[in-house]
Amino acid sequence: MPLTPDRCICLRKVEYSETSQILSLFGRAQGVVRLIAKGAHRTTKQGASKFGGGIDLLDIGQAVFTLDLERHLGTLTEWTLVEGHLTLRRNLRAMYLSQYAAELVGYLIQEHDPHPQLFDRFEQTMNDLASPRVEEAFLAFELDLLKETGYFPELAACTECGSMLSDREPTYFSSSRSGVVCRNCEGVVHDRAAIDPRLVRLTQSILKLPRVDGQTHRLPRLTRHQTDPINRLLADHIEHTLQKRLRLPAYVLENGK
Ligand SMILES: [Zn+2]
Repeated sequence: MPLTPDRCICLRKVEYSETSQILSLFGRAQGVVRLIAKGAHRTTKQGASKFGGGIDLLDIGQAVFTLDLERHLGTLTEWTLVEGHLTLRRNLRAMYLSQYAAELVGYLIQEHDPHPQLFDRFEQTMNDLASPRVEEAFLAFELDLLKETGYFPELAACTECGSMLSDREPTYFSSSRSGVVCRNCEGVVHDRAAIDPRLVRLTQSILKLPRVDGQTHRLPRLTRHQTDPINRLLADHIEHTLQKRLRLPAYVLENGK
C-alpha cells in the first residue's frame, strides 16, 4: 500500500488496547483521516517508543500513513512531533477553545475532503490562542470554518420574510430556520431566542475584515461577555443542523449547556 506523508493536527484520540491509539487527524493535503497507531504506547528495550509515547490531542506532526482501499481505518507508520503547544496547554480557557475548534473541525469537515486553507487557519489560530487574544481568535476561526464548510447561518435578512435587519431593532435567532428572524415574524417561529442585534452586526463585521495570508487582520479585542452569546447561538445552530450533541460547549460556554 502506498505511504502518504502529510502535516497533521490531532483532532481526536481514543486509547485502543494496551498499546495502540485510534486517531482522527486533520491532514493539510488529505483532510480528515482516521488511523490506527499500533504500538503507540509500547516502548523498546532502549526506552524509546514508536510515536514518542503517544500522540496528544492538538499535537501537530509530520505523519506518514497508509489508507486502505475502503478507507475505513488507515495505519499510521511514522509521526514526528512538530508542535506540542506547551504555551497553549498552560491556559485552561485557551485549551478548551482549541479542543472545541478541533471538535468542530471533526464534525463539519467530511473525511478525505482536503481544506488546506482551513488547516493553515487552524494552526495559526492555536498560536493566537496562546496569546492574550483568545476570544477573538477563536471566534474568527469558528466563523471561517462555518463559511468554508457551508454551515454559516443567515445573519443579515429575516429567514421568514426576507427583510433586512438593522442593528437597532429586536432580533431573534432560530436554529430550525438557520438564521435570524425579525420582530414581525418571531411570533410564528417557535424556537427563536432573542439575541443582541449589536452582536449579530459584530459577527458579520468580523467576516468583512481585511485578510493577510488568509488570516483575519485587525480583529477587535473581544470579551467573553460578547463572545459567549455568539458561540452559544452557533453551537445551537450546529447541533440542530447536524443533529448531534457537541461535547465541548459544556466547558466553553458560561453556565454550560
Ligand atoms: Zn421577518
